[in-house]
Amino acid sequence: MNESQVAPWQDETNDMPAEEFRRLGHEVVDWLASYYEHLDEYPVLSRVTPGEIAARLPPAAPVRPEPMNDVLRDFETVVLPGITHWNHPAFYAYFAITGSGPGVLAEMLASGLNVNAMLWRTSPAATELETVTLDWLRQLVGLPSAFEGVIYDTASISTMVAVAAAREAQGLDIRRRGMAGRTDLPPLTMYCSEQSHSSVEKAGITLGIGQENVRKIATDNAFRMNADLLAQAIATDRAAGKIPFCIVATVGTTATTSIDPVPEIAEIASRGDLWLHVDAAYGGAAAIAPEMRWVMDGVDRADSVVINPHKWLFTPVDCSAFFCRRLDLVQEAFTLVPAYLRTPEDEAVRNFMNYGPQLGRRFRALKLWFVLRAFGQEGIQRRILEHIRYARMVEQWIRQSSDWEMVAPAPFSTLCFRACPSGLSEADVDSLNVAIESAINAGGQAFLAHTVLNGRVVLRMAIGNLHTEERHVRQTWELLQSALEESRASS
Ligand SMILES: *Cc1c(COP(=O)(O)O)cnc(C)c1O
Repeated sequence: MNESQVAPWQDETNDMPAEEFRRLGHEVVDWLASYYEHLDEYPVLSRVTPGEIAARLPPAAPVRPEPMNDVLRDFETVVLPGITHWNHPAFYAYFAITGSGPGVLAEMLASGLNVNAMLWRTSPAATELETVTLDWLRQLVGLPSAFEGVIYDTASISTMVAVAAAREAQGLDIRRRGMAGRTDLPPLTMYCSEQSHSSVEKAGITLGIGQENVRKIATDNAFRMNADLLAQAIATDRAAGKIPFCIVATVGTTATTSIDPVPEIAEIASRGDLWLHVDAAYGGAAAIAPEMRWVMDGVDRADSVVINPHKWLFTPVDCSAFFCRRLDLVQEAFTLVPAYLRTPEDEAVRNFMNYGPQLGRRFRALKLWFVLRAFGQEGIQRRILEHIRYARMVEQWIRQSSDWEMVAPAPFSTLCFRACPSGLSEADVDSLNVAIESAINAGGQAFLAHTVLNGRVVLRMAIGNLHTEERHVRQTWELLQSALEESRASS
């Protein structure tokens, strides 16, 4: 930040005086604006070693007030080196988390207002904007109007809430009596694929279903849940006296972005009266583009769906959109209203504190509203399709080269591929790919991740950042090729 006057206000007023806030606020926005202009100049992956940042911080909070200039200076000199730049155009390691100018401005306003959206009356606009904005998003991705929305922090929590509602739907009085020590209650079982996100299993852990009772159904050669095996597993569990109650299908799995056969799974769920939750945390946003609407085939038959605007919808982390046909069950699962939180309008309004384990809730709808308005449906479609176009380009280069291969289909903008020069053993190919990943990440110009598919190391490139342009993708392809040459030379 710029050198500015040391402010003497700390001991004289309670909060920062408006004039000081204004001046520093401008400075911070200026800093962010230049940061966004110069993202390429930062190493994507932070280069610090474990403990390095902590070692540069004092062991205790200051006794005396410190000038804001010092705080802002340390932000740049101490904190920034420990930042991995998710905004960097060549950040491909994890999903497509991309904020945006409109989203950042809304976050500033939301924290400025410091609203807690727990009850309707604690800010009617926060509650009503949440309902309306999610209804906009529902329409954009083509879900039927029977779905109503709630915003949570993350997909992990959205999915946990879905599983809690699914359990509530069984009418087993678990909310009151719990599950332990009940001779009348056989184990409840839930189903996902072996490619599902860990948050599904975590929901099972958190809700006392137990890891053993989270069945991971095998996938086909395109990493999609095998629906026949799902039906078999449910039948086997039922025959053993268990209570199958919930299926989680995924549209855009985390490792390969595979799409489970949701229409078939919906049929199985409906036949067996199981709750169907669809985890479209990453993939759901793509459906805003008409060309990609097919990814949501069958999702209209689900009981609940999660889509994360903080993944591929240009909304700063955190913002997870949960859609449910049976919000009444969510409410039944979680409502517990102490006297001091009763309000005269309880019957007439939605009090979002009743829709999850937490009381306090950030005003997250504001940033989604800003983003949807500032980009518009067309703007969002164009950007998403552009990311998919970049992915198609890279896929083509990979397919045209004998040194590289695609390892999974890439229906969205995330690629799973690996170097596969001829004449190497499988183990050597694995180490080669690990070496390529390390070389690229150490170089600071791009950040990739790897995953393991069918026991083999695979590189993963998730394209979905607003700052990514075609030139960055071309550069990354060149980096990959030189990293391959160098690793080959040194092995
Ligand atoms: C990222 C991801 C999640 C978890 O998202 P959080 O919001 O970080 O909890 C869940 N499912 C899928 C498919 C994901 O890609």
